[in-house]
Amino acid sequence: MTQSLPEQHHTHAQTSAGRAATPVVVVGAGPYGLSVAAHLRAVGVPVRVFGDVMGSWRHAMATGMFLKSTPAATDLSAPGPGGRLADFRRLHGEPELTELTPIPCEVFVRYGQWFQKRYVGDVDPARVVAVDKAATGFGVRLDDGRELAAAAVVVATGLNGLAHVPDELRRLAPEGPGIGALVSHTSHHTDLSRYAGQRVAVVGGGQSALESAALLHEAGAEVQVLVREQRVLWGMTPDLGRPWTQRVAKPASPLGTGWVLAAVCKAPGGVRLLPSQARLLLFRRALGPSGGWWLRDRVEGVVPVRTSCRVTRATAAGSAAHLELAEPDGRAVTLAVDHVLAATGYRLDLDVIPFLSPAVRGAVACVPGSKAPALTGTFESSVPGLYFTGSLAAPMFGPMMRFVAGTEFAATRIARHAARLTTTR
Ligand SMILES: Cc1cc2nc3c(=O)[nH]c(=O)nc-3n(C[C@H](O)[C@H](O)[C@H](O)COP(=O)(O)OP(=O)(O)OC[C@H]3O[C@@H](n4cnc5c(N)ncnc54)[C@H](O)[C@@H]3O)c2cc1C
Repeated sequence: MTQSLPEQHHTHAQTSAGRAATPVVVVGAGPYGLSVAAHLRAVGVPVRVFGDVMGSWRHAMATGMFLKSTPAATDLSAPGPGGRLADFRRLHGEPELTELTPIPCEVFVRYGQWFQKRYVGDVDPARVVAVDKAATGFGVRLDDGRELAAAAVVVATGLNGLAHVPDELRRLAPEGPGIGALVSHTSHHTDLSRYAGQRVAVVGGGQSALESAALLHEAGAEVQVLVREQRVLWGMTPDLGRPWTQRVAKPASPLGTGWVLAAVCKAPGGVRLLPSQARLLLFRRALGPSGGWWLRDRVEGVVPVRTSCRVTRATAAGSAAHLELAEPDGRAVTLAVDHVLAATGYRLDLDVIPFLSPAVRGAVACVPGSKAPALTGTFESSVPGLYFTGSLAAPMFGPMMRFVAGTEFAATRIARHAARLTTTR
């Protein structure tokens, strides 16, 4: 169902001469897509937004999860004051959130839906199935067969379609990983209680793995976590009254404390100017796997965690999965489970984005050594008028683009540039 803004906002979808203009198409209605669309609408640029509003947060995360980011780092980017998470809470009579109150995903979803109604208006839930070049701009096709012309296209599809399951686990599911198979990825789940009473191995050592393990245990599954690293890292409980010496030594940023994080958050545009090797190193190393401080009590001493442990082989044996594990002392151990949950992250790979036509995909230059798009300072790819945002922009602009905190930087730049493009086409 589409939703609309109050009447006065609709006038923005017309040119100043009253003619309907070719719109900017935003593919995706998560934090990035909604923020870009809000800024475009505010300056009167016609925009069509496609996707499920806050879809990833409703359909690709398990019920009961919390955000790892703090309230101050979880604002969508509105074109004016009044659109922050704190504003939403205040307007709805909900208590203020502090760094010491983890945000339930359900609250963030409601905030995103409110933001959409207030700043974006119509969002079409159709999926974009093809984006192709046209004489001017692009041709866009939807899953219900409709076609439309776009002056510019903003890809804001987040991590959709980019889930990574390592080959050794993939062998457990010849038809592909999923809920009904012996192996699934965390992004397949909204309800982990389906595994109550079953033996589940969670592979991975980051927040997704640890929080899924806690939820599985609490739902009555017999769960253990298999972690490659030597130990599990946990975030520090926020200290709201840090003395100035500590604030100087380890400045705060939306992504945590420390000079590197503070610098990359302050100047994502500066990150883009680093040599590509340095940028990729930053992309791969900054913010490695760790669990949120508030999750620790639900995992440590509660759920068995094997560290320094690699899955070397996985085989299906009837309705069970047998995992061969290489232990730190060189021993090989076999573990039999009913299900394997791969909390093994995502891979940025333009080749698997299903809606870019071969001609468009072939024309998008990538960051050397990766399959992520090379982008200008305004997030435009080597295809004029085609923009990428969110995680796909992280190899160019740094780790902030992997998080909601990057929406302000991205949305303001994309909207300003795409708006100019629509008036000059
Ligand atoms: C388990 C987990 C926990 C996370 N926790 C945090 C956190 O605490 N804080 C934080 O800042 N970040 C967190 N993140 C990262 C988070 O994904 C991003 O911060 C944020 O959601 C990115 O927004 P986005 O708009 O780029 O993508 P998404 O939120 O993923 O939105 C993608 C949109 O694209 C749409 N879409 C996809 N394909 C198509 C198509 N073909 N046609 C039309 N629409 C399409 C979807 O329907 C959806 O609307 C977490 C990620 C995961 C996986």
